[in-house]
Amino acid sequence: MTQEQWSAVDHYITNLLVPSDPALDGALKLSDEAGLPPHNVSPNQGKLLLLLAQIHGAKTILEIGTLGGYSTIWLARSLPVDGHLITLEANPKHAEVADTNISHAGLSDRVEIRVGLAVETLQQLATERRTFDLIFIDADKPSNPDYFTWALKLSRHGTLIIADNVVRNGAVIDAASEDPSVQGVRRFNELLANEPRVSATAIQTVGSKGYDGFALALVTSISAL
Ligand code: SAM
Repeated sequence: MTQEQWSAVDHYITNLLVPSDPALDGALKLSDEAGLPPHNVSPNQGKLLLLLAQIHGAKTILEIGTLGGYSTIWLARSLPVDGHLITLEANPKHAEVADTNISHAGLSDRVEIRVGLAVETLQQLATERRTFDLIFIDADKPSNPDYFTWALKLSRHGTLIIADNVVRNGAVIDAASEDPSVQGVRRFNELLANEPRVSATAIQTVGSKGYDGFALALVTSISAL
């Protein structure tokens, strides 16, 4: 299989199951025009996030890594009217573009963007005694182990933790990799494996974003949190 085939099949799936949407298409267009990197999830991955949040009945969502707010819009659309999503972004320009995109999508009433280094904002959220039903980790991969540790502190029994890009074109199996993102993801996967309070798996994916994968972890024990 080639990247061309993966992209063509993604195109086919997206055309069938993820109809064109002005707010989401506009978010990608504005992000591109503003010079943001194209590191957003693909449309069918965004729909998967929405479905997972709906299946889970999430009312409170935490996203680590906003970029232009593309995945934020997908996740926020899953929320009931009294739901709330907090998304963390270090880059003020990214946050500004996301703010515009979220406003155009009519979701400003339920989305809060917090600008700053995520590890610092996560500490703040813990101080505020926040917990979340769903946590999506999608920022700088070397920090994934820290993000998982914080995600657990911000979890309740039944919280669903999702992490993107945990396969990295297969490089995840290279223990000697000198890529800090690969090492961050490997350490994250090991934490998942050794954490008795979660039940987890990871799935390989191919598509318009290449060969990668995501991890799902359900927090199954609140007593030790
Ligand atoms: N979730 C987005 C989507 O699918 O539309 C994509 C997020 S992109 C992969 C990662 C984002 O994390 C970038 O906007 C980057 O600026 C941000 N980021 C990187 N390091 C960060 C940090 N230490 N704290 C907070 N955000 C960070």
